[in-house]
This record gives sequence, C-alpha cells and structure tokens, in this order.
Amino acid sequence: MTTPLAPDYAEVPLWTDEAPLVEPGREPLPESADAVVVGGGYCGLAAATELARRGHDAVVVDREALGWGASSRNGGMVIPELKVGPARLERRYGALGRRLFDSVNEAFDLVEQLVGEGIDCGYERTGQLYLAHHPRLVDHLRHEADEMRAAGQPAHFVPASELWSEIGSDQYFGGLVLERTGGLQPARFHQGLVARAAAAGVGLHPHTEARAIERSGSRVRVTTDRGDIDAGAVVVATNAYADRLVPALQRRVLPVGSYIIATERLDPDVAAAVNPHRRMFVDTKNFLFYWRLTADGRMVFGGRRSLAPVSIAEARDFLHASMMRIHPQLRDVAITHAWGGNVAITFDRMPQAGVLDGVHYATGCNGSGVALNTWLGARVGAWVAGDDAPPFTELRAPRIPLWSLRRAYLPVVGQWYRWRDRRP
Ligand SMILES: Cc1cc2nc3c(=O)[nH]c(=O)nc-3n(C[C@H](O)[C@H](O)[C@H](O)COP(=O)(O)OP(=O)(O)OC[C@H]3O[C@@H](n4cnc5c(N)ncnc54)[C@H](O)[C@@H]3O)c2cc1C
Repeated sequence: MTTPLAPDYAEVPLWTDEAPLVEPGREPLPESADAVVVGGGYCGLAAATELARRGHDAVVVDREALGWGASSRNGGMVIPELKVGPARLERRYGALGRRLFDSVNEAFDLVEQLVGEGIDCGYERTGQLYLAHHPRLVDHLRHEADEMRAAGQPAHFVPASELWSEIGSDQYFGGLVLERTGGLQPARFHQGLVARAAAAGVGLHPHTEARAIERSGSRVRVTTDRGDIDAGAVVVATNAYADRLVPALQRRVLPVGSYIIATERLDPDVAAAVNPHRRMFVDTKNFLFYWRLTADGRMVFGGRRSLAPVSIAEARDFLHASMMRIHPQLRDVAITHAWGGNVAITFDRMPQAGVLDGVHYATGCNGSGVALNTWLGARVGAWVAGDDAPPFTELRAPRIPLWSLRRAYLPVVGQWYRWRDRRP
C-alpha cells in the first residue's frame, strides 16, 4: 500500500510546525562567564537554569537554534525508565542500583513539577502500555509488573485475553501497564524551559558553535565561531549530537536515527478504539515501535528499521506499513508529517555523567531522555554549583568499542537485532 500523504505533508517535526523553536534576539557573546553550557536542548537549559538560580553567571551556546536536536524531535513520552527494571539494577549495581532507580523516578517527578509550575505543553499522565511482540516475552512482562510493584510503582500485567481493553490491535501477546508515564508536546516543553532559563538570567546564544575547549589553571577557554569565552566551568550537553569538541565524550555514544510519522486528526471513535486510555505504547522488540495519541487526537508512530542511514521517505513508508499491520483501522488516515532525529546509545545502555578532559557532561539516555536528560542537566548544574554529584557519575561509563569503525559494523549489528526480533 502506498503511504497516503496529506496535501500539506511536510518532512519537519509536527511539534515545531505547531510551536516553532524560540529565536532569542542576537546578543553579543560575553568575554567571560562562571559557566558555559554547550547544547541548548532540555539538558543544557536545565543545567544553565540551575546554575543561574544559584547565583552563577551562566551562558548557553548551541550550534543550531535552541532545541534543534532531539529535544524538538522526540515522541514526547515521559517515561521513568532505564533499560532494566529495579531488581536487575540492584543485582547489577548493589545499593547504587536502587539510587539509579530512584533517580529516574525523580526525573519523572521533575517534569510533572515543571508542568505544575506553569510549563504549558499539553502534558497528561495517561500511563504506558509495554507490549509483548512475541509469546516468549510474556513472562518477562509479568515479572516486570511484580518487580515494579515491589519497588512501590503502580503497575499491572494485562494477559492477551484482556488486551482488547487496552489496545485496538491483535498483534500482541500480553502487556504491562505502568501508571507513572505521561505524554507532552516536546517543542512546547522546550519553549517552557527556554522561558525558565531566560527568567533565571541565563545568556542564550543559538547559532554559536563551540569549536574548542582549553583548560588553563582553574579557568577554561571556550572558542566559538563568534568569539572566545573565558569560563570557570563548562557543561557539555550535546547528547547524540556530540562532535569532536570533546573527543572522549564523542566516543562514548553512538548516534542512532529514530523516525516518526504523524497522522491527521483521527475521528474520535477511531482514536478511542485504537487507544482507549491514551497510553504511551511501546513494544518489546530491539527495533521497537513507540506510538501514542497527541492531545488533539493525531497518531504519532515512531521507530527504526535498521542501524544504517535511511531517508525520511524510506523511514516513513516503513513506519506506515508497520502501523497498518498493528492498526488496520487507520488505513484511510493521511500522514501529515515525517521526521527523524538521533538518539544517544551507550555501550551498557546506561546514561552517563561525569567529568572528562576537565569538563562536566551528561549524555546517553538511550532514547528515554525527555525526563532523564532534563533531570541530569539540572543535577549536573547543581553539582557544578557545589551539590553532590548525581548517582550516574558512579557508573563505569564505557567507551563504544571500535568506535571509528562504527559505520562498517553498525548495519551488521542491526541485522542481528532484526533477526532476534523475528526469531520464532
Ligand atoms: C526521534 C526521537 C524520539 C524520541 N522519543 C523519546 C520519547 O518519546 N521519550 C523520551 O524520554 N525520549 C525520547 N527521545 C530522546 C530524547 O529526545 C533525548 O534524550 C533528549 O531530547 C536529549 O536532550 P539533550 O538536551 O541532552 O540533547 P539535544 O536536545 O539533542 O541537544 C543537543 C544540542 O547540542 C548542540 N550541539 C552539539 N554540538 C555542539 C557544539 N559543538 N557547539 C554548540 N552546540 C552543539 C546541538 O545543536 C543540539 O541542539 C527521542 C529522541 C529522538 C531522536
């Protein structure tokens, strides 16, 4: 089936089409600052705001518009998760595992607090439905429900016979409902963080590329394409868009493309049939699909087919065909937007934060960073200002093996994951 495109179909994020990125007036770059933050997404803005609120003179620079990265391209799912549940975290990391689990829940609370303080981003806490794509995953979800409840999180398992009450699809074998999950409009959330940073007195400098960082004694010189800044500290918040600025950081993350399509507004009856509780849907595959309804009733459907580069049109057609398999009810619905962005994958699938080559950094939320990158940014900002370091700094933060050969081996790794997803 050819993908039905709306007459005004555009290959731009739905979110920035609705809420364009904020372009603050061009101010001269200061010659010095207490802290320079590189990256104007959720993480960088949260770090700079925390610093400014504690009396530090903080400046954000971004090579592109503020929010141009994943912070305006994501699925808007506010999911308090690491890639493993609380019991496995404790088995793997001991007492630190519990603190890591508590951190992701604090990250979720932070987003709800920011919304409560007035960030108007259409946030709704509607819960997540995690869907078994194969019978062999059903027990895993059942155990995960028990684990989450034992850790004090509201969760329940849904057997295949009752899935109809959660999703209008016959493609899944069981589900796990996690109540503490919500959805927001990512660009509007980012706009709120920009306003908060500006109100705290942060200097905002989009279209300013940091090109070099040099330490000299207790000071750091940040060279940008618009001049140099002499700083007391630097926070690098470039996530999947890390470049050669801090080579040791670049080698700790793999930027992997993820793609999303958005439909026109659904008929309310169709929307209710497909997703009656407006859950955030995610499946159990390695190349997982994530999909949800927007506040105004569109379907937003995301995923990726491989680890090789693909065009937006190819990704769109693959996502549309996949969505039709799951929800044939949407066959007459046109696609209005398709776009992509990079997620930052780490070798051990855990976020990383710390100090590398004399600069503070936070990165690697492995596709679940709306809450976590925001929280990590705030915690790293507070750390620079004198608070304790966040628990993620206690992890080993491994490099990606054979990083410079990644373009050669990633497509092969991708094929392996696809085979694992399809195996009987
Ligand atoms: C398609 C997609 C879907 C996703 N869906 C979800 C989801 O539903 N839920 C969820 O929790 N997470 C999701 N994520 C992940 C989430 O969006 C990210 O974890 C989060 O937005 C990262 O925020 P950040 O501020 O760390 O980085 P970004 O928002 O990516 O910002 C990094 C910035 O650094 C700038 N930069 C890089 N190098 C330099 C330099 N040298 N000088 C100046 N600036 C520089 C870039 O221009 C960029 O703007 C998704 C990501 C993608 C791509």
